[in-house]
Amino acid sequence: MPVESISDILLTHWHNDHSAGTAELKAISNCPIYCQKEEAVYFEKKPGSKIRQLAEYIPERGILVLLKGLLGEVVPRNVKIDRLLSNGDTILNDFLVLESPGHTPGHISFYDKKSKTLFAGDALAVIKQQIRLMAGVVTPDKPASITSILKLIEGRDINMICPGHREPLIKNTQSEIIRFAYYIKKMKKWPLLG
Ligand SMILES: [Zn+2]
Repeated sequence: MPVESISDILLTHWHNDHSAGTAELKAISNCPIYCQKEEAVYFEKKPGSKIRQLAEYIPERGILVLLKGLLGEVVPRNVKIDRLLSNGDTILNDFLVLESPGHTPGHISFYDKKSKTLFAGDALAVIKQQIRLMAGVVTPDKPASITSILKLIEGRDINMICPGHREPLIKNTQSEIIRFAYYIKKMKKWPLLG
């Protein structure tokens, strides 16, 4: 699909491994950008601090791009958000906005009512057709994250979960949701690698 044909940019959170190219995508496609209302500051604020200037020396490509963003706590090029979202908003006819803080304070997920697909960003992970937690080191607010995950998946009619990394969950989705929800309710300690 050509970049020019993108109609809307939906951002789950500001981290650079998800959102670094937002300004470039906007420049090419000129389509509206959506994110959660408190997350917008990370997209809109301009570089300024000494730490941010240091981030300028880190290359744009490869694994270090995440560090580049985290140093300055902003995306590499600031961009204006066109629509600020809140929990429960429905956009583009079918996409339900679900606030899911924990990984970042303004993290959101999207549930497509039509296809019953949950776009979970970094709220959770899927590895070998099993739902997993994100690693502890990238989950600053762990209690909020547990609450978010349960709200996202429990009792929701989901056919498929698309996380921000690795693979979608497409097999036995409902039974896997029940297993994982039970597991995180009983879990005593956050596993190191999630
Ligand atoms: Zn992230």
